[in-house]
Amino acid sequence: MSPFWSPLVHQLAPYVPGEQPQLANLVKLNTNENPYPPSPKVLDALMAELGGDADRLRLYPDPGATALREGIARVHGLDAEQVFVGNGSDEVLAHAFMALLNHRNGDGTPRPLLFPDITYSFYPTYCRLYGITPQTVPLDERFQVRVDDLIATAQATHAGGVIFPNPNAPTGCGLARAEIERLLTALPDRVVVVDEAYVDFGAESAIPLIAAHPNLLVVHTLSKSRSLAGLRVGFALGHAGLIEALVRVKDSFNSYPLDRLALVGALAAMEDSAWFDQTRGAVIASRQRLTAELTSLGFEVLPSQANFVFARHPAQRGAALQQALRERAIIVRQFSRPERIADHLRITVGTPAQCGALVAALREIV
Ligand SMILES: *Cc1c(COP(=O)(O)O)cnc(C)c1O
Repeated sequence: MSPFWSPLVHQLAPYVPGEQPQLANLVKLNTNENPYPPSPKVLDALMAELGGDADRLRLYPDPGATALREGIARVHGLDAEQVFVGNGSDEVLAHAFMALLNHRNGDGTPRPLLFPDITYSFYPTYCRLYGITPQTVPLDERFQVRVDDLIATAQATHAGGVIFPNPNAPTGCGLARAEIERLLTALPDRVVVVDEAYVDFGAESAIPLIAAHPNLLVVHTLSKSRSLAGLRVGFALGHAGLIEALVRVKDSFNSYPLDRLALVGALAAMEDSAWFDQTRGAVIASRQRLTAELTSLGFEVLPSQANFVFARHPAQRGAALQQALRERAIIVRQFSRPERIADHLRITVGTPAQCGALVAALREIV
């Protein structure tokens, strides 16, 4: 603490990311990175951009990220005006909170922002940063998002918007597109943000709903299914009016959130659909094997459509299990709060060898 802090800084509750230990030989299954490398075309694009003498790095990158936005638009069958890019989807989400989810009633009282009680813990952090009142809506007893509850709570609290990941984090459970459509139709005058960080691993994307629903913003990242967590690129898709709001915030904050390497590397990754399909197919196959093996060890595993599983053992405490794995050089994520998930482990789906090491260690422990 310091007397120089602004009042806002005193109130912040920063997000705590999963650790990135600098140890060799760790089986790292704690932050949902992809176990496979990015498309080889990414490296080609980075080398071409550097061009031997890195002279291009003298020059600012394209502030409009036009080539990348056009590439993303082509992949998803949209126009470039319907695409916003940012420095990781966390930055895109932050701009969406400020630009589209921070509303007040006519009398000046804040309108709450709805999200599930068990969800991505960056959402409450952004609420603190921007002075938004969070309003959580409980998942049902099977850890599913209930759209009827979202609609009823949005109407009862006069919420200013709704946000949730699909599939949800850290549960991995997906929501059907028809359910999202029901939500969009019931709340036509508020923005619904669907954070599809993990959608490529088997859930139904809401992107086809964009055409008919000007209140829908879909957020994607290249960190998970495109193996580029280290390059920091995410994007949002929606009606041009929503995208313009994000651009206005971005241009009031940082004209160049994506550097030259990120722009070309991300484009190369988006264009290599064969690599994308092959690596996500491998992750999905590993997830199915891992789910079966954990189940045979007595774990209860939630049905996952993501690149991680969320599992608990009825006879083990979550923190103790995490510690026992750590002693065997395997790291997974465990959340102490809310209490309802304290005995669950969130385990990133690794390569077959990594999953094998995990299962062997758990067999010893349980
Ligand atoms: C990983 C993740 C993100 C952030 O991804 P970046 O693009 O790396 O910032 C956003 N939302 C959810 C739910 C995530 O799990």
